[in-house]
Amino acid sequence: AGAAAAAPLSPGDFRELFDSVDAFLFDCDGVIWKRDRLLDGVSQTLDFLRSKGKKLVFVTNNSSKSRKEYAKKFGSLGISVSEDEIFSSSFAAAMYLKVNDFPQDKKVYVIGGEGIMEELQLAGYTGLGGPEDSKKTAEWKSNCLFEHDKSVGAVVVGLEPVINYYKLQYGTLCICENPGCRFIVTNRDAVRHMTNLQEWPGARCMVAAISDSTQKEPIVVGKPSTFMMELLLKKFQIDCSRMCMVGDQLDTDILFGQNAGCKTLLVLSGVTTLSALQDPANDIQPDYYTNKVSDFLDLLGA
Ligand code: PLP
Ligand code: CA
Repeated sequence: AGAAAAAPLSPGDFRELFDSVDAFLFDCDGVIWKRDRLLDGVSQTLDFLRSKGKKLVFVTNNSSKSRKEYAKKFGSLGISVSEDEIFSSSFAAAMYLKVNDFPQDKKVYVIGGEGIMEELQLAGYTGLGGPEDSKKTAEWKSNCLFEHDKSVGAVVVGLEPVINYYKLQYGTLCICENPGCRFIVTNRDAVRHMTNLQEWPGARCMVAAISDSTQKEPIVVGKPSTFMMELLLKKFQIDCSRMCMVGDQLDTDILFGQNAGCKTLLVLSGVTTLSALQDPANDIQPDYYTNKVSDFLDLLGA
C-alpha cells in the first residue's frame, strides 16, 4: 500500500500546522520565485510569518549561485533574507568537504558553475575547472598523456551548462587514478524548468556522465539527502518535528522533509500538478498540498 493521500490544506489544518511548527523551510524555484519572477503574495506571506515569530529558511538545489548571490537575488526581489538563512546545494558541497576535514592543500575539480567555485573559495578551498575549462578541448595523440593535477582530492559535479569532453576526462581521471578522491554532487534533479514551454536537462545527466565513466556512486549533498538538514540543525536549534518543509517537487523537497522527519506541504505553483500528485504510481505523498504559498494568508484570515 502507498502512502496516505495528501489532503488539500484546509483553514483548520493550517491553523494546527502553524501552531505546531517553529520554522518553515522553503524551497525556492516554483515556491518563492519562478526563475527571476517573484510569485504573487510571497513577500507579504513571509513578512507575516516573521511577524508571528516563525523562523524562515530557504533550501535550494540550484547550484548555479552561491549563498551570497542568492541573498542578493532575494534583495533584488524586495525580500530581506540573510545568507545564514539560505542553504544552497553549492554551499552544501563546500561544507561537506569542511565537515569531513578535507585538507586545504588538496584541490577540488569542479564540473559546474560559479556558485560552486565561489562557495569553495569562501570555505578556503582551491577549485579547479568550472567555467574556466569551458573553452578547453581534449586532444588525444598516441604516447601523449592527458595531464591532470595530482593534488586534486575531490571532484564536485553540479549543473554544468557548458559540458565538454575535456571536463569529462579531467573529472574521470581525478577519480579513477586516485582511489581516495571524493566524488560529491550537488543534486540529481532530472530536469530544470527554464521556460514554460519545455523542460531542460538538470544536473542528473552531468552526474550520470561521471558516475558512468568512473563506475562510482557519488555522495549527494542536495535534497532529498539530509546533509543540508544537518547543516541547518547546527545553525538553528529547532526540532525537525517542529519544521514544515514547503516545496513544489515530490522526489526532492517532499522526500527531503520526510527523510528528516519534518511536516511537509506541497505547493502546486511549480513543477508538480495535482494529477501527478494523485497519480496511483506516485508513492511520495506530502502531509498537505495547497496552490501557493500566499494561500497561508487566506487560510489564517490574515
Ligand atoms: N538546479 C537547477 C540548475 C535549476 O535551474 C533549478 C531550478 O531553477 C533547480 C536545480 C531547482 O531549484 P529549487 O531546489 O530551488 O527548486
Ligand atoms: Ca523547486
